[in-house]
Amino acid sequence: MNEIKDIIKSLNGFYKGYKNSRGLIGAVASVAWIPKKDTSFELITYRFEEKWGTMRLIDDESVKKIDRLYPTTFDNYDYENKHNRIVPNSPCPILYGIRGDDPNDLIKSSSLIKSENVDSWIIFQTNQGTDDHLQNRNIKQVKPFESVIIKGKIIDKPHTIKGGHVFFTISNEFKEKIDCAAYEPTKQFRNIIRELLIGDIVEVYGGVRKKPLTINIEKIFIKKLVDDFIKLENPICPNCKKHMKSRGKNQGYKCLKCKTKKLYADRKKKVRKINYGFYEVPVCARRHLSKPLKRF
Ligand SMILES: [Zn+2]
Repeated sequence: MNEIKDIIKSLNGFYKGYKNSRGLIGAVASVAWIPKKDTSFELITYRFEEKWGTMRLIDDESVKKIDRLYPTTFDNYDYENKHNRIVPNSPCPILYGIRGDDPNDLIKSSSLIKSENVDSWIIFQTNQGTDDHLQNRNIKQVKPFESVIIKGKIIDKPHTIKGGHVFFTISNEFKEKIDCAAYEPTKQFRNIIRELLIGDIVEVYGGVRKKPLTINIEKIFIKKLVDDFIKLENPICPNCKKHMKSRGKNQGYKCLKCKTKKLYADRKKKVRKINYGFYEVPVCARRHLSKPLKRF
């Protein structure tokens, strides 16, 4: 934090931090960012100074309208969770920010937003929505506070803990493992995670929490789904035509009369409720740098 404040002062910049002020770190980093191949834009509008810190007046319906009208914009509105994502939470001077791939569409969108009067606006080139923060990693290499993409096989069934957070563990061919989490704020995304089964192969995208070392999932790519079976009844002995008895968990079945053995009960394949491909957290839970599926 001191390093960041020294940098701002050395450039005669001025600043104001909110809460723990850590937003300044991200703000300075974003100013220092050098554009790469994939970039996006954000049109930011500013409020008149006398309005700073007061409630922002922005019409949600007009935000939904631009969201539908301009597909090159993204992360505007979360319909399922009724969350207007273009408006910041802090009492900062920004009125709203519209993110998108086409600067001209951003200007047209902004003209359709019904809101209090705008003092000024500017378009920034950014790495928002580009996955610029993510690095491919092996489980062993993962360090706290990194943002990573990791492939692995699910080795325990996702379970929900108090507070609504959903956890599971993935492992690789070297038996290295790491915990993954879909926290409560990821809302409906947790229903996807709860459908995963032991043996499924996934690629998780997310930030690394330090203690305990856990991947906070932003996006998941389901690569392989195992067959899921539902047990119908104990198998029938082909000789005696009677139901066989279970020999214990995962140990198969045996006929009490003629000792014939069978590995599996009569079972039926269950339809999996999830499919191959990408699933992402809802707009309301999306990190700024996380690439929305609509940009893929
Ligand atoms: Zn038998």
